[in-house]
Amino acid sequence: MHTDIDALLREIARDVQPLLAEGRVADYIPALSLVPREQFGIAVATVDGRLYGAGDSERRFSIQSLSKMYALALALQREGDALWQRVGREPSGTPFNSLVQLERERGVPRNPFVNAGALVVVDVLCRRYLQPERAVLELVHRLLGEASVAIDGDVARSEREHSDRNAAIAHFMRSFGNLHGDVAALLDAYCAQCAIAMSCSELARASLFLAADGAQPRGARVVDALAARRIGALMLTCGAYDAAGDLACRIGLPIKTGVGGGIVAIVPGRLCVCAWAPGLDANGNSIAAAAAIERFAAAIGASIFAGD
Ligand code: GLU
Repeated sequence: MHTDIDALLREIARDVQPLLAEGRVADYIPALSLVPREQFGIAVATVDGRLYGAGDSERRFSIQSLSKMYALALALQREGDALWQRVGREPSGTPFNSLVQLERERGVPRNPFVNAGALVVVDVLCRRYLQPERAVLELVHRLLGEASVAIDGDVARSEREHSDRNAAIAHFMRSFGNLHGDVAALLDAYCAQCAIAMSCSELARASLFLAADGAQPRGARVVDALAARRIGALMLTCGAYDAAGDLACRIGLPIKTGVGGGIVAIVPGRLCVCAWAPGLDANGNSIAAAAAIERFAAAIGASIFAGD
């Protein structure tokens, strides 16, 4: 097992360089297409309070679907298990923004990490908060113990202006009675939540509660232990859309990916690692960030399926 984490992260940052030219930067949200591709960061935060980083680990980027972990935690905190009547807990086997399964399952999305499921989660938050995106942002502030993280207004506007597909998903679910609020307000909140900008080191620190049974180390409880374990199980099975199985085989950890190029992975009881590189594969997952986390997990023997 590798013990010098700083040296390991530097080595990984060097070795993934050839991968940074691969893949495509997300361009269906025009503001994201402007992000230069050749960037890479990686950071590790441990439950006992240590922080390591290499490359652009302090540079903020658009967290996109990584926000769904925090929104889900908030919805479970407020709603408890009643949430599962409106959102399933099964892998989708379809792209993150797919509509096909919704008709068959009468407007109930497969899981809270595909866009349909995340929209239901935001609909739940809309009933609890006047500005759900502010509630998600404030949760992130509490998790970090400081309030400098913000929503990138340009990215939020850009996604909102191109949100026809998410609007279609929302209206479709509403037609089945599984969305209660106003669709326009829901999309405003969803696009703003996805446009939160954070660095790898902020994401690794803010996600520690998921490695620590629901309580932020030296901080407040976010969700109960059972809810934290459920979020971890959903990250393992559904956190990378229709590549969840492949990445579970390669990495062996609960992960969440986002089209901004970030990936967060949880090593229960020990640490969180976040890697970022904007070039995405056909499933919308960052090529270099996935390779980096795979390499890190193997080097420290982190797979949850390891027998030691
Ligand atoms: N805001 C993005 C969308 O709804 C999130 C997708 C992702 O990061 O996977 O399309």
